[in-house]
Amino acid sequence: NSFAASRSTAEWKAIDTAHHLHPFTDHKSLAAEGGSRIITRAEGVWLWDSEGRQLIDGMAGLWCVNVGYGRKELADVAHEQMLELPFYNNFFKTTTPAAVELSKKLAEITPEGLNHVFYANSGSEANDTIVRMVRHYWDLKGQHRKKAIIGRNYGYHGSTMVAVSLCGMGAMHRQADLPFPGFHHVMAPYWYDYGGDLEPEAFGKLAAKAIEDRIKELGADSVAAVIAEPIQGAGGVIIPPASYFPELQRICKQYDVLLIADEVICGFGRTGEWFGSDLFGIKPDLMTLAKGITSGYLPLSAVMVGDKVAETLIEQGGEFYHGFTYSGHPVACAVALANIRIMEREGLVDRTRTDIGPYFQDRLREAFADHPIVGEVRGVGLIAAIELVDDKKTRRRFPNYGEVGALCRNHSFANDLVMRATRDAMVLSPPLVISRDEVDELVRRAKVAIDATA
Ligand code: PLP
Repeated sequence: NSFAASRSTAEWKAIDTAHHLHPFTDHKSLAAEGGSRIITRAEGVWLWDSEGRQLIDGMAGLWCVNVGYGRKELADVAHEQMLELPFYNNFFKTTTPAAVELSKKLAEITPEGLNHVFYANSGSEANDTIVRMVRHYWDLKGQHRKKAIIGRNYGYHGSTMVAVSLCGMGAMHRQADLPFPGFHHVMAPYWYDYGGDLEPEAFGKLAAKAIEDRIKELGADSVAAVIAEPIQGAGGVIIPPASYFPELQRICKQYDVLLIADEVICGFGRTGEWFGSDLFGIKPDLMTLAKGITSGYLPLSAVMVGDKVAETLIEQGGEFYHGFTYSGHPVACAVALANIRIMEREGLVDRTRTDIGPYFQDRLREAFADHPIVGEVRGVGLIAAIELVDDKKTRRRFPNYGEVGALCRNHSFANDLVMRATRDAMVLSPPLVISRDEVDELVRRAKVAIDATA
C-alpha cells in the first residue's frame, strides 16, 4: 500500500524529469543520465531506492538527520500534536504550548546568555531574520550607519536573496547579481588552502586579522555584524585553527560589532558538542539553528538572540514588523522537543565526542591519509572532509578542479554511498546513531570510490 509502490520506477523518473525542478541541479545533465534516483524509505543510517538498492547515508540527508531515520516516536508526537492542535500562529498576542516549551529548552541548551528565540522555517529565513534584527538593533542604539555584514569566502548561509548575500559563494552571486550592497566577504580560515608555510595557529590569527582589516577599511561605525559558521560545512568542512575564534571574538568586542554563529550544520551534536560554539568557546550575540533541531523530520529554524540584543529590541523596539505564518509551527516545535529528548536520553552528543566520533575520524585517517590523491583528511565528531589533490606534497589541485570531486561523488553514489563533493573535497556527515560496523562499511565504500577516481 505504500505511496512509493503506487508507480513504477520508470514512471517516477519520467514524471520527475517532466515537471520537477530540483534545488542545486543541472537538469539537462540529470535528464541525460536517465533521471533521478527515487529514494523510497529509510531506517537508521540506511536508505532504500525504488529498485530495492540499499544506500548508506553518509550525509544524514543534508547534514540534518542527526537521530537517524525511522524514529516512530517523532511520528507519534507529530500525529498527536496534529490531532490536538495542527496549527496556530504566534503573531500578536497568542502562542502554543509546544512553541513555549521549545523556547525554554533551547534557552537551556544553547550557550549562556542566548535566552530568546525567534522561529522560522529554514536556515535561510533565520539568517534573513538576523540581518533585519541586527540592523534594527543598531538603529535603536542610534548607530544608524552600522549596516554592513561581513561573512567569509566559502561560507554558506542559505539561498534567499539576503542569505545568498551572506554566503561567500561566487557562483551563487553571479546568477542573481548579488551580493546586495553592504555584504562583504573575507578570507576563510582554510589552512590547507591558504596556509602556505604558516603553522595553523599563526594562520588562524592571520585569517581573523582579515576581518579586522575589513572592519577598519569600512569603518567600525558602519559594520553591524560578522557572521560565521563554527565549521564551514557546505564550503568544504573548513575547520578553523584553535587561534581563530578567540581572536575573532576579541576583534568583534574591540570594534563593537555583533558576532553571529550560524550553527545550522554544527548545532545539535554534529561536532561532539551541543553546538560548534561550545567546541570553539565562542560567545555569539546571535545564533542560527535549523536542520538538526528536528533532525529534518519537519522544517523548523530558530534565531537565538542574546540578552544584550534582545533587551534593546524588547525595551525600545516596539513592534518588529517581521514574521512568517509558520514561525513556531506547533507540530514542528513538538517534534523538535521530542528530537532533543531522544538526543539527551541516548547520549548522542557525548557518544559523538567520546566514542563514535573519534572512531570515525581514526578510520578515515587510517584509510586515506596515505592515499595518493588525498591531500588532507580533516574533521571532528561526525563531520569530515577528504580533500583530493593532484600532488600531495605541493597541495596542487587537479587541473580540472571540481570535476574530480564530482566524479568521485558519482562513483560513491553508484556504489551505494551518499558522499557529497564540495569542489574536490569529499564531505561526510552521517547520522549520529551510526554504529562502528556501519562506519567501517561507509569507509570501505568511500575507499572504492576514491580508488576508482585516482
Ligand atoms: N546555514 C548553514 C550553515 C547551512 O549549511 C545551510 C544549509 O545547508 C543554511 C544556513 C540554509 O539552510 P536552509 O537550507 O534550511 O535554508
